[in-house]
Amino acid sequence: MPDRTPPGRTAVALEDPALDPVPLTQRLVRYDTTNPPGDEAACVGFVERLAAEAGLETRVIAADPRRPNLIVRLPGRGEAPPLLLHAHVDVVPAEGQRWTHPPFDGALRDGHVWGRGSLDMKGGLAMMLTAMLRLRAAGTPPAGDVLLAVVPDEEAGSAVGAGHLVREHPGLFAGVRNAVGEDGGADLDLGGAVRPHPVVVAEKRACWLRVTLRGQGGHSSRTAPPGSAVRQLTRLLRAIEPGGLEPVVTPAVDRMLRELSAVLGEPLAGAFARLRTDPGDEEALAALPDADAQYLRSVLRHSVNATVIEGGTAPNVLPEEITVTLDGRALPGGFGAAGFVEELSARTGTELSAEVLVEGEAMPGPEFGAFYDDLVAVLRAADPDGVPVPMMTTASTDARLFRSLGIACYGWLPLLLPAGGGYRGLLHRPDERVPAEALRFGAACFTDLLRGRR
Ligand SMILES: [Zn+2]
Repeated sequence: MPDRTPPGRTAVALEDPALDPVPLTQRLVRYDTTNPPGDEAACVGFVERLAAEAGLETRVIAADPRRPNLIVRLPGRGEAPPLLLHAHVDVVPAEGQRWTHPPFDGALRDGHVWGRGSLDMKGGLAMMLTAMLRLRAAGTPPAGDVLLAVVPDEEAGSAVGAGHLVREHPGLFAGVRNAVGEDGGADLDLGGAVRPHPVVVAEKRACWLRVTLRGQGGHSSRTAPPGSAVRQLTRLLRAIEPGGLEPVVTPAVDRMLRELSAVLGEPLAGAFARLRTDPGDEEALAALPDADAQYLRSVLRHSVNATVIEGGTAPNVLPEEITVTLDGRALPGGFGAAGFVEELSARTGTELSAEVLVEGEAMPGPEFGAFYDDLVAVLRAADPDGVPVPMMTTASTDARLFRSLGIACYGWLPLLLPAGGGYRGLLHRPDERVPAEALRFGAACFTDLLRGRR
């Protein structure tokens, strides 16, 4: 496996890696771990050497030698259950995008670390690892063991990453009750009125379907018959026109709306309060910044978008078959692919023939226990002006896999970002970057969490 780090940057030694997550993030970004194909071995090997040199226990577990997982263990005092931190090192492609600084240079410019993965989520890995290295260097073991799972392949299904660990090595996580991973980009701008700190307590469940519509073809100079594939397509698209199924308020979103309503001024406070009782209130949504309204619509319903539509051979021929790929995202609570098919069949008046392409793990509702309170307390102490907010991410992360082991999972990557800066919106986009100070803030939060954990 060739090390794809640029020449001259291969040495493990860093300027004070135990104290500063910024050069560590830069180093991690310089490994091109674009997935596909991933090729995460060099990047994971770098983290392993760094952890091992600091005296942390490491174990490599690989389903594919080019794409290993790494477990780093910081032994605790045995007074609390082990805590799991998990971070993926693969990134989405940067090809074809216009970048101000090349995506794999890891440049530090204008107070920011630039590059693919700086936010999603090599910066997060750097924050977690820095905290573990600091506790190790200080000789202050945490209450319980801290396990850091460094995994490949999160951006493309996790089969050789967290999926492999959970399926083949569940014993690694024996006794773990809580886990912390990425926040999946969950964010609210709130017009810059406050600085929210997302604590992700719930994720949506991916349900990807391919629906095949079949019906009578013929000359398209005449109106297509009601049973034709094109008329069925029209009905299907009309059925999903609002972007999903009936609006509904789930417990995670209800608590988010309630807490935001309590700290915000008008008109935002009133809008959030109204959405708690009427999640379909478009007037309330209109009072919010566009991106916030779009986010809220997505967490207030099982959403569904038509993403690939195929069929037809000529402008004047009615196709006999049309396939429609639907990206459905179910709210927590057990609703899944079968529910989407049933609901859309009822709405279109047709028994839809659908193939399930992907159905993610069913996600349970949120857990607001003592550990959640710890995450909030760390944020409040670190940023008294910020507002910790429980949130749901519309995406899914490796939390869905660790959750299947009965572990309560939280998306928590504390970043001190300027209010209304929209940084989390840079995930998967060109010019992904993170303020260096935001990384230092996050590393300090993780250090506090590990030190003070009950
Ligand atoms: Zn990610």
